[in-house]
Amino acid sequence: MMTSQDYIAREEKYGAHNYHPLPVVLDKGEGVYVWDIQGKRYFDFLSAYSAVNQGHVHPAILKAMTEQASKLTLTSRAFYNSALGEYEEFAAKLFGYDKILPMNSGAEADETAIKLARKWGYNVKGVPDNEAKIVVCENNFHGRTTTIISFSTDPTAYKNYGPFTPGFVQIPYNDISALKAALKDSNVVGFLVEPIQGEAGVMVPDEGYLTEAYKMCKEKNVLFIADEVQTGIARTGKLLACDHENIKPDVLILGKALSGGFYPISAVLADDDIMLTIAPGEHGSTFGGNPIAAKVAMAALNVVKDEKLAENAEKMGQIFREGLKNIKSDMVGIVRGKGLLNAMIITPKNGKVAWDVCIAMRDNGLLAKPTHDDIIRFAPPLVINEAQIKESLAIIEKSLSQFE
Ligand code: PLP
Repeated sequence: MMTSQDYIAREEKYGAHNYHPLPVVLDKGEGVYVWDIQGKRYFDFLSAYSAVNQGHVHPAILKAMTEQASKLTLTSRAFYNSALGEYEEFAAKLFGYDKILPMNSGAEADETAIKLARKWGYNVKGVPDNEAKIVVCENNFHGRTTTIISFSTDPTAYKNYGPFTPGFVQIPYNDISALKAALKDSNVVGFLVEPIQGEAGVMVPDEGYLTEAYKMCKEKNVLFIADEVQTGIARTGKLLACDHENIKPDVLILGKALSGGFYPISAVLADDDIMLTIAPGEHGSTFGGNPIAAKVAMAALNVVKDEKLAENAEKMGQIFREGLKNIKSDMVGIVRGKGLLNAMIITPKNGKVAWDVCIAMRDNGLLAKPTHDDIIRFAPPLVINEAQIKESLAIIEKSLSQFE
């Protein structure tokens, strides 16, 4: 029988070292739980970086996936298929846009949005050739492609990966006057922003920031591009985080929970005046919009609606944050978040840091991962109930108390 160490050693030996996983080897998942190879059960408080909002192996999504997989998996977009149009209509109407452009990973969807904004800038706004600029925020996270890391401010993401793609302007997040100054440049075509910066450590901007930013973009004929790859699909207590301020982005980027964790599915949504600037042959992906993805995404979105996951995220999020704030430990710093996207700042104690707290929580039956050295993100599947929230809080409290 292979031990956890055997599994870990094999990944270390044959896999690239581009991740540093918490030492636990998972084998099974259901709802809010995952099990390791020894059969030990854990609460999953990462949800695959918010891809598993609907809970692990949701039966309705599984059914949609297996039914379609046994019929037709992939045609490429060289031909029409019987599932894609249904999904496009469903998603376009659900999110309120004329059209959707389906892709696979979040990074690809961000790349698509960048290309779309540039194309719109040249074809519609009238920006001179190759002069388009996109305003982005410091501490952003939009993925790992060469263009996206070109405008990252995190050296771990960009160092020694240059030369970089030009055409991006970095401004501080949650800073309206910086945005105002940046928008003075008439070659700016878009403002790309995360409604809450997830990877940066769940940075929630001031109330009204997104509204004001959106308004300023309108005034300057600049596209407001929301990256809701992590914040979207009910995670923050509304279907989209932008819904908290009732703003509708010109370009909406989705990924992760669009599939409930079954499959890489991402998408860009926009109205015709923007979307139709991309013509046949100018952009695409072999797998984007495949029949399995179409059926899986519809099922995943239906689960969110049918099980009222946004409402549950809002309700459980409030109880959870309150509980975190009540934990008596001098390692607990700021607690922040929205819905079930939350974070706790960990003050190191006797050389023990967020990583050590995550190891203690693992031992006590809850999985979370530090983001940066001192922040723990807590993002369970949105199907979690109140009893499970209370049990999880008890595990977190017990784990922290081990460092007293
Ligand atoms: N955008 C945001 C806001 C994200 O949080 C992430 C991933 O964490 C991405 C884009 C990239 O998604 P993917 O890893 O699927 O490429």
